[in-house]
Amino acid sequence: MIAQVVVDVIHENVAKPFSYLIPEGMDAAPGTRVRVPLGRRQVDGLVVERVEACEVPAARLKPILRVLEKYPAVLPALLALARELAQADHCPLSETLRLMLPAAMRTGRVQTRKEPLAQLNEGVSLEQAVTAQGRSHKRTTLLKLLEDRAAHPVAELARLVAAPQDALRRLAADGWVRLGEREVFRLPYEAMACEPSEPPVLTGEQEAALAVMEPALGKGQGAFLLHGVTGSGKTEVYLAMVRRTLAMGKAAVILVPEIALTPQMVQWFRNRFGPGTAVLHSRLTDGQRFDEWRRIRLGDARVVIGARSAVFAPVERLGLIVIDEEHEQTYLSDRHPRYDARRVAQSRCAREGATLLLSSATPSILSFAQAKRGDYTLVEMPSRVNHRPLPHVTVVDMRGELAAGNRSIFSQRLQQELKTCFDRGQQAMLFLNRRGYHTFVSCRNCGYVVKCAQCDVSMTLHREEGGRADEMRCHLCGATVPPPTVCPECGSAYIRYFGSGTQKVEEELRRLFPAVRSIRMDIDTTQKRDAHYQLLNAFREGKAQALIGTQMIAKGLDFPHVTLVGVVAADLTLNLPDYRAQERTFQLITQVAGRAGRADEPGEVIVQSYKPDHPCIVAAAAQDYRAFFTQEFQRRRAGLYPPFTVIARLLVESADPEAACQMCDRLRDTVEAFLTAHPAQKRRVLMLRADEAPVRMIRGKTRYHVLLKAFEHPDAEPVLQLLSELASVGDPLCQIYAEFNPATLI
Ligand code: ADP
Ligand code: ZN
Ligand code: ZN
Repeated sequence: MIAQVVVDVIHENVAKPFSYLIPEGMDAAPGTRVRVPLGRRQVDGLVVERVEACEVPAARLKPILRVLEKYPAVLPALLALARELAQADHCPLSETLRLMLPAAMRTGRVQTRKEPLAQLNEGVSLEQAVTAQGRSHKRTTLLKLLEDRAAHPVAELARLVAAPQDALRRLAADGWVRLGEREVFRLPYEAMACEPSEPPVLTGEQEAALAVMEPALGKGQGAFLLHGVTGSGKTEVYLAMVRRTLAMGKAAVILVPEIALTPQMVQWFRNRFGPGTAVLHSRLTDGQRFDEWRRIRLGDARVVIGARSAVFAPVERLGLIVIDEEHEQTYLSDRHPRYDARRVAQSRCAREGATLLLSSATPSILSFAQAKRGDYTLVEMPSRVNHRPLPHVTVVDMRGELAAGNRSIFSQRLQQELKTCFDRGQQAMLFLNRRGYHTFVSCRNCGYVVKCAQCDVSMTLHREEGGRADEMRCHLCGATVPPPTVCPECGSAYIRYFGSGTQKVEEELRRLFPAVRSIRMDIDTTQKRDAHYQLLNAFREGKAQALIGTQMIAKGLDFPHVTLVGVVAADLTLNLPDYRAQERTFQLITQVAGRAGRADEPGEVIVQSYKPDHPCIVAAAAQDYRAFFTQEFQRRRAGLYPPFTVIARLLVESADPEAACQMCDRLRDTVEAFLTAHPAQKRRVLMLRADEAPVRMIRGKTRYHVLLKAFEHPDAEPVLQLLSELASVGDPLCQIYAEFNPATLI
């Protein structure tokens, strides 16, 4: 037998597999990691296929040296998925295979963690053993602790007897005790306390939703879009679906859009199903990820909770994938190979006979349209649990505030509501989707703006914090410079600061309510491992009365004592030059408003806006998804935006501005020539142009793009295919990326 092996999964993009002989007696099933010779080196590789013969005569082939694990690291279904993704993204199989393995496994840097054990030797009489110790109190005590003949972790013994190691070694040398070890898995959120919980009596809407979806689980099919308003109890529906999945002997994967949301979800699942729930996301240590991955692969964990990449979790009998907050952009990978976790989940479910459950209070326009078309079965939960009302929303016109002489970033109304909330001992959340203190610094004399030297964006002022002084920071590349005291252009001292971020909100709250403790959650305060968990837990336990944050706190979180939500600047996302700006704004406001009044006390929401009459703000204030969908769907159709069209681009980046510009023109010409030669396809293309990208430079690289808009139609496929191919051609001076309906068009 001959194995086709993709070599060195981590270091090289060797597109083609090599052939090796499988030695007699070696079990090298597809998906197995193997050690193979490559030239003078030995490298790791992965068996992707077994064949009877290949173009090289068998006598000239080298044999596989050994298998690295006894089991295939990549399951057959995931191997097929890797192939599919490689084809769709036009990248080498080795790159998509990387998605399937924990980095630590490929680099071999992380070792399994072993725990030393001690146990009374077989046949040994405790009495004799004790007698033989003479006056050694320590050894006698240790022997007595081992009386039950079970294997005890040495660490456990060390808690009862100080420094037992030498004594144990002596006991082992004399044959009384046997020393061993066993592997321990490093668990994420180890400090999390589990409180076993029983399912509540389900609401009528939860029951009705399950009545529609549960039968599909048994059949191993079905794709559902669960549209349930904020606080309708969607998590209980997932828990019930997972319970049923486990009862069938199958496994479930639950995806959440942000790492910030994993602790809460893990807590729900551990309380209900015990510690067999695994966690996969990028903020685990390499060791934890390695261990969680193996717990899943070896079948010890049957429930997986994680961010986007957990869609590749190596579960063997997949029964269910849940995508919570399915509308979130974070399900689109921003790195190569680019994938959409929702599409990957769909493909996995279809291939592996599993049920797909997309869920949101504010489904994406695309998913809702697909549900209306029949791609998904729409399931709705229109009311909150126990008839709790949706929060009451007030839109404050910020133009009036300035006119009335209020220069605070908090309107009069928000200030009053905050006071009422704090006076009652309740909690508030303040949302602003911008971090830092001031977002824009410029000279009043000459108009100079402090920009990043490597990126074409203005820098944000961050106030001193965590041992760092005041500094200007670039949010794209992280570069920092000291804040200017005089204008570097004209020397004027008249420097003005504009735009507020979360740090400013924090300061303003402190100024108005000095006695109120607050917690701020944004990228800057969540750098440390487990910071998400600790900050949210502190807020849950009432150690602070206010939680300030960016989109990190906008969705999914369930805090019973929060009765007030303030949206500090609702228009931020609305002003973005993106056809999805309205969708994003509606989702953000509705989601963040939905954090209020989730338990017994009703919720109050203050939305501050300079465009209070904008249809998108009005629909969000009414928390009326249907109204928003109808108006937005019509707008998309009239403006020929997705899902009616595809927006695709070739992004060119180069350290050499000339090269980038020329490459961009050349690519446009190639596409144009192709269209001229294919009139049927040209008819489907609405726009083709070559331009500077909206952000002209990032990390010192100049960026140009070829933008294309085409009808969503089979005739347009070949030109999209062409873009993919153009992107995969190497160039010494430029990087070229093909993007289709990307998350952002910067
Ligand atoms: P959603 O995700 O739909 O916004 P959650 O799943 O977070 O809502 O549930 C909101 C709150 O309602 C949670 O605190 C949850 O414990 C509670 N809840 C859910 N289902 C029930 C039920 N059947 N009976 C009582 N409380 C429930
Ligand atoms: Zn100036
Ligand atoms: Zn920068």
